[in-house]
Amino acid sequence: MKFFISSCTSLLWVVFLVSCMADEESSEEAVEEEDALNADDSKEFCYDDSKGCGPRNWPGSCQGGQYQSPINLPYDPRDHRRNARLADLSQSNNYFNEQRFNLTNNGHTVQVSLQDDLTSTCLLDGSLLNNQPYVFSQLHFHWGSSDDRGSEHTLTNGGYNYAFPMEAHLVHYSAEFNSFTEALNSNKYGAIAVVGVFFEPADRDNNALTPIINAMRNVRNPKTKTGGSRLNLSWFLFQSDQKDVDIIQYYGSLTTPNCNEGVLWNVVAFPAPISYRQMRSFRTMVLDSEGKNLVNNYRPIQPTNSNRKIYAVRSSVKRRQN
Ligand SMILES: [Zn+2]
Repeated sequence: MKFFISSCTSLLWVVFLVSCMADEESSEEAVEEEDALNADDSKEFCYDDSKGCGPRNWPGSCQGGQYQSPINLPYDPRDHRRNARLADLSQSNNYFNEQRFNLTNNGHTVQVSLQDDLTSTCLLDGSLLNNQPYVFSQLHFHWGSSDDRGSEHTLTNGGYNYAFPMEAHLVHYSAEFNSFTEALNSNKYGAIAVVGVFFEPADRDNNALTPIINAMRNVRNPKTKTGGSRLNLSWFLFQSDQKDVDIIQYYGSLTTPNCNEGVLWNVVAFPAPISYRQMRSFRTMVLDSEGKNLVNNYRPIQPTNSNRKIYAVRSSVKRRQN
């Protein structure tokens, strides 16, 4: 009997070792892909001001820019509905169809890009975006080490500021340009449009996040990339069956160096759910460049100067067949 138990134990050890070896193999694959990553992603900045690379020392417009992001956004749902300009936000076919994606840990965040070139078809437009089509470029996240921090924007209502544990940014560029970089370098107002989505803790998993979290286990180390299954951007953007969303719109900046201005921000005021378990995955599954859990990757709130216009927009979401 003793022998039986010990041979079972050794069998378990063999199974364990084989599975470890398999794990090692997949992480090696990920490291090999490191070289293929865009050199832009390796710019050395961090979120910790006790080191030289924190937000206080970020370069470019990050210092001295007049229209920086993120900011505190005033939001009173009753006022919002009374004063809101009505607009529509249309999504083309490929925005609401499932797409194959890649996930990258660039040391600052996890970032989703689409595998297929859908630059002519994965579009957002509508009067919310001044009827200009915008091409989806990438989607990434900012999150905190606890539930009271993590979002970049905050909402202010009745004298209180609300931060959320996570905020997603869906980055787009105007279809008049050939690439995100070309749009950025144009310095034109509205060349880049970002949709911001807050997440709030909930008991049930948010299925829109599942494919991303599943892929996260393959990008534990910074500068690694993996292929994901399929992702529906539309689910991501507008949760459940909401047809109308409150959006807060203003002109600000990128929230990472060089903090380029002229970015058209569209922050969805109503948070999407993320389960506690899923939130824990973000906090523990990916490492930063120092080998620590990647958390608190949000830029602090920037001053809102007095002549800055912040619009309330009540937006109806439409689907357009292309
Ligand atoms: Zn961002």
